[in-house]
Amino acid sequence: MIPIARPVMGEPEAAAARRAILSGWITQGPEVEAFEAEFARSVGAEFACAVSSCTTALHLALLVAGVEPGDEVITVSHSYIATANSIRYCGALPVFVDIEPAGYNMDPSLLEAARTERTRAVLCVHQMGMPCDLPAILAFARRHGLPLIEDAACAAGSEILWQGQWQPIGRPHGDAACFSFHPRKVMSTGDGGMLTTNNAEYDRLFRLWRQHSMSVNDRVRHSSNQVIFEEYPMVGYNYRMTDIQAAVGDEQLKRMPGILARRRELAAVYDEAFRGHPVIATPAKPPRTEWNVQSYIVRLRGFDAARRDGVMQTLLDGGIASRAGVMASHREPAYAARGVRLPVTEAASDGSLVLPLHGGLSEKDIGTVAAALRAAVA
Ligand SMILES: *Cc1c(COP(=O)(O)O)cnc(C)c1O
Repeated sequence: MIPIARPVMGEPEAAAARRAILSGWITQGPEVEAFEAEFARSVGAEFACAVSSCTTALHLALLVAGVEPGDEVITVSHSYIATANSIRYCGALPVFVDIEPAGYNMDPSLLEAARTERTRAVLCVHQMGMPCDLPAILAFARRHGLPLIEDAACAAGSEILWQGQWQPIGRPHGDAACFSFHPRKVMSTGDGGMLTTNNAEYDRLFRLWRQHSMSVNDRVRHSSNQVIFEEYPMVGYNYRMTDIQAAVGDEQLKRMPGILARRRELAAVYDEAFRGHPVIATPAKPPRTEWNVQSYIVRLRGFDAARRDGVMQTLLDGGIASRAGVMASHREPAYAARGVRLPVTEAASDGSLVLPLHGGLSEKDIGTVAAALRAAVA
């Protein structure tokens, strides 16, 4: 069986977890602080705040951006449902725009028409780690004084050519970026998330609200030789990351250059195997970006969902896992009542599939998958 994904983990991660466990401090302590500093450095952000997942990162980012009940947030349906759900957690409504016909990300030409007097923020997604059109989306957001939050769940290690300079996604280019460390992403802490920003006030609120708005953090209280009483000026949340996760995350960061290089090597083998194929369209990296290849997605030209599903079953019968393309959140029962139609999103979601790609695979495995797919679509 060839699995779709597998985290790259080994003795260094196990040793780091052990160190954290035996240290006597196992949640939001020194390991979290160290991981935050390393992560901020790796993306070139001034601040990084670790949380329990990207979903909780998105929730905090939208709250800090001022999203309130009754507001609207412009985003894409073509994403994991966490993107839309985080908007609903604020009591706000996601306003879904379609994706670009040639790619998998938000179409900036649709933003003006989606704006109303209730629009409070823009939540863009770097889907599968492919950077979205940040220059155009940011220009729209700034023109209307709207905060831009980046769902960078999949995008650790991706880059964008920004004013002539290569810059990591998550610097951030908008007001805050949200990362995921779920095992399906390129680096993992089991579960976990990170918020990056260059705005000190945003960072202060992230830190406050991830721990119930507690006015004094545990480390300050623990190291004080005076009795300290904290207060809770606002309602907050428990979105903490543990020190065990953070210790693992630090090791994963060290591995990132190797993880990225390997993913790109294996993707190149797929690209070559499908070159010029009449049905299988390889993923097109957006211009002026470097892609971490979080998911190797292919589009089956002319296939609807039923035929695509048939191909996936044939692959599975041959011991190869695959996944349907990115979901269309507006078609899920939780969102479908509004009757939105997004033809580009729907066609992309129905006609594409994600192939196995991870550090545990060899060039030969990739060749096996490619041959099986070519046979399945024939
Ligand atoms: C994985 C993912 C999320 C959710 O991340 P969690 O860490 O599992 O909460 C959000 N948005 C996108 C685009 C994702 O791919």
